[in-house]
Amino acid sequence: MATKFLASEQLPALLEALARDARLVIPAKSDGLVQFDIWELRKEVELQVLLARQSPKEWVFPQCETYLRFEYAMAAPEETQDGASGVAPAGVAPAESAPAQAAPAIPHETIQLESLNEAPRQVIFGLRPCDVRGFVQMDRVFGGYGGFYFDPLYNARREATTLLAVTCREPRSTCFCTAVGGSPAGQEGVDALLTEVGGGFVVEVLTAKGEAALAAAVSAGFLSDAGEAQVAEAVRVKTAASAKVDSPFTLEGIRENLRANFADDRWHDLCLRCISCGTCTYVCPNCYCFNINDSLVETEGERYRTWDNCFNPQYTEETSGHNPRAHKANRFRNRFSHKFWYYPEKYESLLCSGCGRCIMHCPTRIDIREVLRVMGAPAAAPSEGVAAAAAPAAASSATSPVADQSASTEGKEA
Ligand code: SF4
Ligand code: SF4
Repeated sequence: MATKFLASEQLPALLEALARDARLVIPAKSDGLVQFDIWELRKEVELQVLLARQSPKEWVFPQCETYLRFEYAMAAPEETQDGASGVAPAGVAPAESAPAQAAPAIPHETIQLESLNEAPRQVIFGLRPCDVRGFVQMDRVFGGYGGFYFDPLYNARREATTLLAVTCREPRSTCFCTAVGGSPAGQEGVDALLTEVGGGFVVEVLTAKGEAALAAAVSAGFLSDAGEAQVAEAVRVKTAASAKVDSPFTLEGIRENLRANFADDRWHDLCLRCISCGTCTYVCPNCYCFNINDSLVETEGERYRTWDNCFNPQYTEETSGHNPRAHKANRFRNRFSHKFWYYPEKYESLLCSGCGRCIMHCPTRIDIREVLRVMGAPAAAPSEGVAAAAAPAAASSATSPVADQSASTEGKEA
């Protein structure tokens, strides 16, 4: 598809053109924080700060959404053919007051349902390639095994969304996208990619959706064909950016190693600092777990879903009171195993795009790279690891919160 050039001074005009046909969502600074928000005139897009605090996932998968309203009512007893109510008067047997063929009518409860699914056309502009990969990773789950678990809420919004990403020129020390198969200029799931060069942006239009979103800007002349020198500069920017990203751990054998380390006591040591706040899951572009609740006031109610997080002690608690992840170490292990073992086993892809947000925002400075360096490495030698020998494992299971399960009882993907 086409490669265009956008002069820096034309950026506001491009945003205005994009907002004419769709809801436009941009990273913007407010009270010192960069957050994705709806664009309006004179609101400036913030592209110098690399990552918004939250990923843009909430614009497709909201933190809280009501998707059903319901109302209970009592239906009046139906009238019988002879005009009687069908309900026998007090003290009179039904056979004496109504024809034998009429079934006795009884008051009964009815329910009215209204389903809600708002999916306005929208363009998310200024997100990063790792944010886009977060959507691609969630698509596999909400698309659900060829449609079996197809999620209409997520998919309607995803279908209505166009993603115009910006190459990361200056990755942060916490970024590790290249270690998990991505890149500061990654194109997976991206509808158009903008790379900042001298005087403006090289715009690579990558999909029909991207082309449609930018059509008005092309006709208005805000986007011209990119020159060879501009394209070559974009390539240099991308190569230089990739070289700045660390590769803090290796993926080689990581699934097998996590399996082998399943009952290792180091999970317990690593999770000691964790306060189970769930921040790492809420800021993550691909954590997708949710909870469903009903709220009912007298006869009217709503059903809504909210983000959940696997650090919550009640996350896997069963109605019986049994909790297969009763200890913090079990829950901590689940987060990393889900991303690098259970999900990959199902989808042949990781559930992490290396954005580093969980590292930046964890209040106790738990670093996913460090956890994977330790627990994603080959299992410890017998003398070092609790799970290495059957006897020590059995002996320790009474006290070790991680050694009281086997990989098969833990279950697979949460
Ligand atoms: S696990 Fe951490 S680094 Fe990976 S995508 Fe989520 S927030 Fe980003
Ligand atoms: S952000 Fe840090 S402290 Fe909070 S749940 Fe995640 S790992 Fe634990």
